[in-house]
Amino acid sequence: MKSKTPYESNSDHLSPNRNIAPITTEINDEGALVIGGCDLPTLASRYGTPLYILDELTLRATCRGYIKALKNHYKGSSLPLYASKANSSLVLSKLVSSEGFGLDVVSEGELITALESGVKGEDIFLHGNNKSIEELSLAYDNDVTVVVDNNHDLDCLEEIVSSKPARLMLRLTPGIECHTHEYIKTGHLDSKFGFDPDQFEEVLLRLKNAPWARLTGLHAHIGSQIFELQPHRDLAVVLADALKLARDFGHPVDDLNVGGGLGIRYIKEDDPPSIDEWVAVISRSLEEACMERKLELPRLICEPGRSLVATAGVTLYRLGSRKVIPGIRTYLSVDGGMSDNPRPITYQSLYTACLAEAPLASGVETVTIAGKHCESGDVVIKRLELPPSKSGDVLVVFSTGAYNSSMSSNYNRIPRPATVMVQNGQSDLVQRREVPEDLIRLDVLPSRFGAVK
Ligand SMILES: *Cc1c(COP(=O)(O)O)cnc(C)c1O
Repeated sequence: MKSKTPYESNSDHLSPNRNIAPITTEINDEGALVIGGCDLPTLASRYGTPLYILDELTLRATCRGYIKALKNHYKGSSLPLYASKANSSLVLSKLVSSEGFGLDVVSEGELITALESGVKGEDIFLHGNNKSIEELSLAYDNDVTVVVDNNHDLDCLEEIVSSKPARLMLRLTPGIECHTHEYIKTGHLDSKFGFDPDQFEEVLLRLKNAPWARLTGLHAHIGSQIFELQPHRDLAVVLADALKLARDFGHPVDDLNVGGGLGIRYIKEDDPPSIDEWVAVISRSLEEACMERKLELPRLICEPGRSLVATAGVTLYRLGSRKVIPGIRTYLSVDGGMSDNPRPITYQSLYTACLAEAPLASGVETVTIAGKHCESGDVVIKRLELPPSKSGDVLVVFSTGAYNSSMSSNYNRIPRPATVMVQNGQSDLVQRREVPEDLIRLDVLPSRFGAVK
């Protein structure tokens, strides 16, 4: 009774990052789009719009894709971490840890989310180029590994450490260029993150004379939304050299963390490697580099963020006003925009969308999907082919599971959308929608301004 959609671009269910739509996407007898067994027009009516949807099966399939690839390709032990900045919530922490993942966090808020959801401290890693004393203390008290970014981290840690040594990993700037947006590159030498290669020996020496510290790992992350495999090959070699040096200094380094960065398919033209290929390339080059240097294999840690959650998410909007500028452009405005998805205005990111009730209908016009914020740059999709549409129709924007909710704002005092997780025909609210009262709850009116009405 149900047919597949044109948005499913390959049948590799362990690598959803190569699809545009979640793996459970179908079309029902009424011709409407269905994800996780739930039809999208019904979800839009029930929960309101804009609405973030997360497909549980896609999330689990992606986790299993990483776990399986690591088992198949890497001879040593391994631990994948979810870079929770991509989309941090109690339900996502629980879900990925139930699949065998640890968690990366970069702030007190993300750390509390991970701990509250029941993830053990030893499976959590704290990143950041300017961690606060509070963040470091919370990490230390909970046996979280601190990924040391700079000497300031070490100065602060030295102050707070008491009886037990702190578990540390060192972040290196590997000096590797990759082709992605400038704002999401992190591996080149001119980066705010990590120790420069020429600081490395000095830090190893400092830690050798620091009984309060236990250096257990090395880390590097070269950037995000990367389609090339060569930079990851190069990274494995840089890290193996660093591993040799750290072990020569006598540090008990057993963890090598290669970061995240695998890209996903936002539009038809995107062609990222599969999870399996990415893990295979990293495993092979790390094994070779370790063999050449006669190093015992470290535990391989990787930290996917985007590729773990992006494809599992879609955003539902309702179409509102239409402005036709003859010969120039037709604007269709939706009830959200840059506050729920700041990626287009920040990185000129491209997205694909369709009408929830007519996903297969062919396009009759080219439109620009505009948001409702007071910014001309608030555009969700610059060029989209759409069938006939009217105000009130539900628009489905694909691959919004990563860096949408987590980067959302209240610009124009627009409440953030709810998030609903779907699975087997069931929908569960996993993050409630903000209401206008949420937006003024932190405002303080000094008494000389008179009472609030
Ligand atoms: C952002 C980030 C990641 C995740 O990157 P993705 O491209 O989303 O996979 C992993 N590690 C670190 C240190 C990061 O900052």
